[in-house]
Amino acid sequence: QQEYLLQTEKLAVAGQLAAGIAHEIRNPLTSVMGFLQLLREHFDQVAPESYRIVWSELVRISDIASSLLVLAKPEPANFRDCTLDNLIRDTITLLEGQAHKANVYFEAMETPDVTLHCNPGQLKQVFLNLFKNSIEAMEEQGGLIQISYDVQPESVRIEITDNGPGIPKHLLATLGQPFYTTKEKGTGLGLMVVYNIIQEHHGSIQFDSDGIRGTRVTIKLPIIQS
Ligand code: ADP
Ligand code: MG
Repeated sequence: QQEYLLQTEKLAVAGQLAAGIAHEIRNPLTSVMGFLQLLREHFDQVAPESYRIVWSELVRISDIASSLLVLAKPEPANFRDCTLDNLIRDTITLLEGQAHKANVYFEAMETPDVTLHCNPGQLKQVFLNLFKNSIEAMEEQGGLIQISYDVQPESVRIEITDNGPGIPKHLLATLGQPFYTTKEKGTGLGLMVVYNIIQEHHGSIQFDSDGIRGTRVTIKLPIIQS
């Protein structure tokens, strides 16, 4: 028992350290990216392709830093009331272009009229990361992302199902571990962020897949009773 607590404390310290470093990296990165944007015109005349590569690598560093910052626990001040419909709609809108390019379509059940006490930016990040994974998994042959809901007295269950290649059973327990990725350009931080945010919101999340016929993600979040 004691050994277990020590382990958890160590993880918390490592998380704080990661978040602290990410914060320190973000500030200089912001100014570098600002200056680079100003120089864009000159780059475009000399080496447009190099500019594109440098820019996309900086965006990647910035994404990694943002992911690690989630390990710094959010201030409850950022929590407010938000309808589930807003969170889902906004996220789908944001991804429509990328989904369309990959031949992936959303099929969402009408969102039930429920309100969550949450950090809306963070919950949108959760849906964004999950939808993105589904799109990336189906990018080759296209597919469907289905979203359905089940409202219970104190919570809402959200089910996100895709018909991509799925996740092999023995890897399901690995999900959420930082830097676990099977993608050439992946960061392996998306699901770590998802797990952290869901935990901060006193919810739960479960992945189901047989590794052949797609993936189902089930999220349960507390709702405000009207
Ligand atoms: P990344 O997307 O950068 O690889 P994530 O933490 O978001 O990192 O996901 C980790 C890994 O989990 C992915 O590389 C992929 O192998 C697997 N995965 C997650 N979601 C899905 C999905 N919907 N279908 C198939 N594989 C998935
Ligand atoms: Mg991802």
